[in-house]
Amino acid sequence: MPMRFYQLQRPGPSTPRHWSGSLSAEHIWSLPGVECPTCHETWSGQFALPSVDLSSLPERDLLLEPRVEPHTEYARLASRVQPFLPSGMTSEPGMQFGPLRGTAHGAFGPVSARHGWEVLVTQDALRHLQAVGIRGLVPVRAELQGLDAGVVLYELELPSRGLLHRDAVLTGPQCPTCGWQETRISPEPWLDGDALPHDVDIFRPTNGSTYTFVNARFVEALAALGPGDVTFREANVVPESRSGSVH
Ligand SMILES: [Zn+2]
Repeated sequence: MPMRFYQLQRPGPSTPRHWSGSLSAEHIWSLPGVECPTCHETWSGQFALPSVDLSSLPERDLLLEPRVEPHTEYARLASRVQPFLPSGMTSEPGMQFGPLRGTAHGAFGPVSARHGWEVLVTQDALRHLQAVGIRGLVPVRAELQGLDAGVVLYELELPSRGLLHRDAVLTGPQCPTCGWQETRISPEPWLDGDALPHDVDIFRPTNGSTYTFVNARFVEALAALGPGDVTFREANVVPESRSGSVH
């Protein structure tokens, strides 16, 4: 039987929560957003790499305050950050680095997501996921004041793998200067069956970095931990070659 895949989501605003936890925290460093002289867009992405440590970068203090810069200054800072990134990954405006730092309020369940792309687990949940052999876990301990005694939260850095099916993603031309590209993604995107990752159980598609997908192994492992505040929508999987009859 083929592996099933699910989109991990935050529950909708009208869905009752199991847990009261909330965060007021940001990743320590971020590249500025960009004002582009070519396409005239001002933009900032939401991609975070919490495991990237910029504390030895001489320009680190210029990355503490989120802001927008002209493209030349953005490009200068991006070139300084580039050597710290995992191979094959290029920076983008607004990209965030380092652990979440800030304050937490309330009680957290085994798994929660502040956005669809920011997945947090408790230490107990992390140990369980590791013990049952869940693959692709890159936990980064969040630096949070205000958690109950003994509670530790880890953000899971999501491996970039797999693809949303091309028929679920409409893109315009890409700006040669800043990389801006108008992108519209179907509200319930499906996955490219020819690009499924088989080496990890949690991932973000390389063409949809604000989406988190997991497979049935991950969902089953979490179910053993009791209720958390995330939901799973089963995603269709369609071979790349077969065009979009699935909506
Ligand atoms: Zn541009």
